Amino acid sequence: MAYITTFLVVIFFGIFMGFSNPRFVASHSPTLFAKPTITISSIIAYGPEYFENSGREETSEATNSARFLKYQDILIESRDGKVIVPVVMYHYIEKYVDPQDTMKQKLTVMLPEFENQLLAWKKSGYETLFAKDLSKNLIDQKVMDKRAVALTFDDGYEDFYLYVFPLLKKNKAKATVYVISGYIGRQGFLTREQIRELSKSGYVEIGGHTVNHVYLKGLSRQTIAQEILNGKKEIEKLIGEKIETFAYPFGAYSLDAEVATINAEYDASFTTQPGIIHESTKTTLLSRVRPHQINYNDIDSSLVKIYNEYK
Ligand SMILES: [Zn+2]
Repeated sequence: MAYITTFLVVIFFGIFMGFSNPRFVASHSPTLFAKPTITISSIIAYGPEYFENSGREETSEATNSARFLKYQDILIESRDGKVIVPVVMYHYIEKYVDPQDTMKQKLTVMLPEFENQLLAWKKSGYETLFAKDLSKNLIDQKVMDKRAVALTFDDGYEDFYLYVFPLLKKNKAKATVYVISGYIGRQGFLTREQIRELSKSGYVEIGGHTVNHVYLKGLSRQTIAQEILNGKKEIEKLIGEKIETFAYPFGAYSLDAEVATINAEYDASFTTQPGIIHESTKTTLLSRVRPHQINYNDIDSSLVKIYNEYK
């Protein structure tokens, strides 16, 4: 009798403790608590973070998936000819800027800060894309099923080669540089050799930014067309391949400028208008964001904010 009682107590205790404890069940019945099979559609439905965090403590998982739900909405909106990707617009990356030079200060991100930003994107699960990858996605109407960011650098300053390029190689990250063809080799700007090396590296896309960095509003149709087309041809001759994306100097565009980018066979052109939603029907006027618009401690939330603000 005592033997039977002990047996029953053990069984009861086992059932009570074991099956009431999800961790026990999870570790002993893998099929009950198995993660769903990871497919592209399940990543869209749950988000990659759901899978990444499924082994972590429940509290942090709950926080992360709550935060992610908002981001997931954004990715779902990525269908129907829309691509949701932040395209960050940089100018100078420097180790030192003259405090008197307020104009340059405004356009500069200091090197350590830039490195932190690059690492923050990586840490938050964002893959770096070329601007031309984004335009390809738009043209092919491909669904954006992962976090991605495009880092763009206007004007083709030499600091890109000196400071940004080594960081890209070190972190296997990509970036796009918009080169003013008539400024190549000038003091403070990239040289022909540097541009060739950047282009061949696989880490850098070279794009166009006109011949003379002109304000593309109010000029004659012919001048606008020449600035855009010749700037493209000069760079293509230099690097020996087609360039696909363009950035409007000063963010200034006009209908003539848009038409000229199409005639020059650019696939996509970027303004300085803020926003992260890109539409396949508007590839001549794509938005960008400024580096300080992002909260690098919570990139997802700041993108949701930008998304809502500039819908
Ligand atoms: Zn510029």
